[in-house]
Amino acid sequence: MRKETKSIVILGGGTAGWIAANRLATHWEHLDLDITLVESPDIGIIGVGEGSTPPLKLFLDVIGVEESDWMARCEATYKTGITFRNWSTKPGFHEYFHPFQCQPDELVLPAFYHNSFLRRQGVDLDGHPSQFFLAWHLALQRLAPITPPNFPFKMNYGYHFNSGLLGEFLHEWAAKKGVKYKQAKVTEVVLDDQGFIDYLETDSEDTIKADFYVDSTGFRSQLLQQALGVPFESCEDVLYNDSAVVFPTEPDENPEPQTISTALKYGWVWKIPLTSRFGNGYVYSSKYVDDDDAEMELREHLGLVDSDIEARRLKFKVGRVREHWYKNCLAVGLSQGFIEPLEATALDMVQETVACFVDYANKGEMSDRYRNEFNARISKRFDAVRDYIVCHYRINTRTDTPYWRDAGSNEQISQSLRELLMAWLGGKNITDEIERQNLDAYFPSMSWNCLLAGKGIYPTDEQVRPGNELAHKYDLKDIEKYLKGCALNFPAHMEQLDLLKKAEAA
Ligand SMILES: Cc1cc2nc3c(=O)[nH]c(=O)nc-3n(C[C@H](O)[C@H](O)[C@H](O)COP(=O)(O)OP(=O)(O)OC[C@H]3O[C@@H](n4cnc5c(N)ncnc54)[C@H](O)[C@@H]3O)c2cc1C
Repeated sequence: MRKETKSIVILGGGTAGWIAANRLATHWEHLDLDITLVESPDIGIIGVGEGSTPPLKLFLDVIGVEESDWMARCEATYKTGITFRNWSTKPGFHEYFHPFQCQPDELVLPAFYHNSFLRRQGVDLDGHPSQFFLAWHLALQRLAPITPPNFPFKMNYGYHFNSGLLGEFLHEWAAKKGVKYKQAKVTEVVLDDQGFIDYLETDSEDTIKADFYVDSTGFRSQLLQQALGVPFESCEDVLYNDSAVVFPTEPDENPEPQTISTALKYGWVWKIPLTSRFGNGYVYSSKYVDDDDAEMELREHLGLVDSDIEARRLKFKVGRVREHWYKNCLAVGLSQGFIEPLEATALDMVQETVACFVDYANKGEMSDRYRNEFNARISKRFDAVRDYIVCHYRINTRTDTPYWRDAGSNEQISQSLRELLMAWLGGKNITDEIERQNLDAYFPSMSWNCLLAGKGIYPTDEQVRPGNELAHKYDLKDIEKYLKGCALNFPAHMEQLDLLKKAEAA
């Protein structure tokens, strides 16, 4: 961090702004730094984004938050992974589970890779991924991914939560760390003669001035894109969705700790269990269906055609900014970009951006060299996540609407994704290809294997041959027995959440 930086203003109080506030205040606790978060309640937050990946737990650990501090308050549940339903029409592959990789997987991954690899060579082996993962057994049995005493491995898990309540919680936590808070709407961003942000004019008498600014103003990107003019690079040519319609439904008393993503005619629907409700949202492309028809399709899917509960409609754009840190401004959250929510990666990107910024700012005292390296690293992360999500669409086998047919034949995919698909289809070991392209820091080989195997990108049953004993070296019944046996020792999901509620009340 540059010695002369004495003050930081974070503009925007959505989840991204509060994550940034907590992380900066924690990492730079030892510096004499004034951090103020400014937001306009009139504009409000986007209010979606209710599923996470495992790094949310790491972030909460770093800032000193325990599960008993926040989970009950934010209506949170555990998340062991995501089930993708109806993305593939291949027999036996109508759904599959994508777990968060964890230590016990190391014992069974060789069996999955072996079966999957030989299946691609045309040997008649079962290469469906779900059955190989403990997290899947936990989800189906409604068990929490909390390791029982004496279990020798660590689980890796994410959360589902009410995003508005998480923002409120993080606001209070940041206040304890000394972050100041101000309500104001920024109306004008004034630059100095070198093009740096000088100060902000607001709808009150006040102006706001700092040495460094964090733009967390959501899709408006008021500082980075609007005032500083950093270009936005869209990826709508490979990701068609630009709209969502969101609808809550009654909670389940004992929900499965997983997100369900079901493909519909023009996109997909998430189903996210909170303790107070299910969050449901249809993510679709307005180029293929109009908003009313999309809402009706969601209502039909949920069996709520006549319900008078109002749905919320949202618009979004997919892509990223060319530079996330420019002059004296860092963009985090939707202001820096958004890859659609299929793998719930947006908050992961926020944390990575802030953590990496702290690292590079510390190393290089905010010099250009480190700024350029930082920007390249974050952009690479965006692009790698984009490709993984594009792959979901590119390998879908639905033909029921032009939306799915166009997505399934889209030739605009990146060279990196093209080479990965060629490796899979050419029967090669894709772990090697992932390593060659240095992609495992974003989605590990296990995730790519799950995606391609889970959608049944294999020779058909008619095209395969029996194979010898060596090929059939893993007995799937034994693996299932073993995993079910492990799962038996895990605590029930709801019991675990009740314990957290009691701990919070105490
Ligand atoms: C349909 C959909 C589903 C999603 N699902 C997921 C998911 O499952 N998992 C996940 O990780 N992410 C998801 N996301 C992304 C997630 O919602 C966001 O990353 C997250 O909410 C952070 O948003 P934000 O803080 O960047 O922006 P916002 O929540 O929009 O906050 C913007 C803030 O800026 C303030 N502001 C703006 N302009 C001004 C101004 N001029 N003056 C003062 N204040 C201003 C506003 O008041 C507000 O406080 C989803 C997004 C969409 C669109």
